[in-house]
Amino acid sequence: MRQSHLFTKTRKEAPKDEVSKNAELLIRGGFIFKEMAGVYDLLPLGFIVVDKIRSIIREEMNKIGGQEVSLTALQDPSIWKTTDRWDDEKVDVWFKTELKNGNQLGLGCTHEEPMTRMMKDHVQSYRDLPRYVYQFQTKFRNELRAKSGIVRGREFLMKDMYSFNTSEDEQNEFYEKSIQAYKNVYNRVGLGDKTFLTFASGGMFSKFSHEFQTISDAGEDLIYLNREKGIAVNKEVMQDDILESLGLKRESLEEVKSIEVGNIFKFGTKYSAPLGLVFRDEKGIDQPVIMGAYGIGLGRLMGTVVEVLSDDKGIVWPESIAPFQIHLIEIAGKSEKVTAEALKVLKEFESNGFEVLYDDRKVSAGEKLSDSDLLGIPWRVVISEKMIAENKLELKNRKSGEVKVVDLSEVIKMIKNGQSL
Ligand code: ATP
Ligand code: MG
Repeated sequence: MRQSHLFTKTRKEAPKDEVSKNAELLIRGGFIFKEMAGVYDLLPLGFIVVDKIRSIIREEMNKIGGQEVSLTALQDPSIWKTTDRWDDEKVDVWFKTELKNGNQLGLGCTHEEPMTRMMKDHVQSYRDLPRYVYQFQTKFRNELRAKSGIVRGREFLMKDMYSFNTSEDEQNEFYEKSIQAYKNVYNRVGLGDKTFLTFASGGMFSKFSHEFQTISDAGEDLIYLNREKGIAVNKEVMQDDILESLGLKRESLEEVKSIEVGNIFKFGTKYSAPLGLVFRDEKGIDQPVIMGAYGIGLGRLMGTVVEVLSDDKGIVWPESIAPFQIHLIEIAGKSEKVTAEALKVLKEFESNGFEVLYDDRKVSAGEKLSDSDLLGIPWRVVISEKMIAENKLELKNRKSGEVKVVDLSEVIKMIKNGQSL
């Protein structure tokens, strides 16, 4: 893509009312647009990043047997009344609206109720189970405070998976697989070494639910981490008896701020019993289906990557979710020779399957280079008169900051092999 065609522009300053680092950098880079507090649009670059995150999550969910669907955001109050979750006293983040005839509707903040009802049409016998169903869906939540940028939106994209099992054992087996799938996702988006399985409150059959918490000063959560074991305990369940049951000693725990980047939950028959999602077992007796839910916020994940991996110059995308692999920059002045050479290199990169953002804009070299640092594309390749004279390219790795002058063929080889400089 040519940068001169991109309608978004970088900017030096973020809006004055923006206090979070993730939104500041993403707005300055033109990845997102702020509509109002807690409400953001995805612009072309942000859209590509979210799309890459979506593909990674989709692959991992499909690997553990997930089937993708897309349920409506509009919510029928009757099913939420059945589970006693329609009342604003019970669920305090509802956005509600009305039909022309005066009937109420909700905007989905989560999807247990509609998922459960939908599955009733398709699950009758033990032979119809287990099933694992997921979606990427917009959620609406009237969050009290929305000061963390895209980490806490009032509208956000969530991957939510629901498990439907005949027994606790069967569910437990899947639950363990889901933990591994989640770990794979965090590893793949570059947060693996900072993200920890965390014991949190909730769960019907189990004492706990589990969160995945990424260490970050921008976090709203407080966890107690045992680095050696790679597990943590959320402050909300931090009690001596609980630590003992987990084999943890208070002295071995480090208090750190963190962002909850995922959440998995076993809730037994909490939704299936009231909504009547049952299966006929092998003895011919109807039993409520055993359910669980598994969520990841995609925007929150993108925001967390920005919080955790950026530096004082801008964003540092891992290759897996970067909007482009290579930022090709021509420093041409008035030289047509440089542009011709840049086009040749671009063609070469593209024929090797690389995703390239080509900065062909007629702006100063300084502006191009500082924009490149802000945008955070993993590899920067600069072409200038000087480089052409030497028949070389200047290659920079955004993460390490290292710069090297090399041949085109060498650049291609290094990026292909994912080598560092
Ligand atoms: P929190 O405690 O941060 O409000 P939650 O416990 O309400 O989160 P869930 O209902 O379990 O979150 O949602 C599943 C996932 O969706 C979370 O782990 C998080 O990644 C994401 N998420 C939740 N709320 C938001 C939000 N307001 N904006 C962006 N992502 C969110
Ligand atoms: Mg919440």
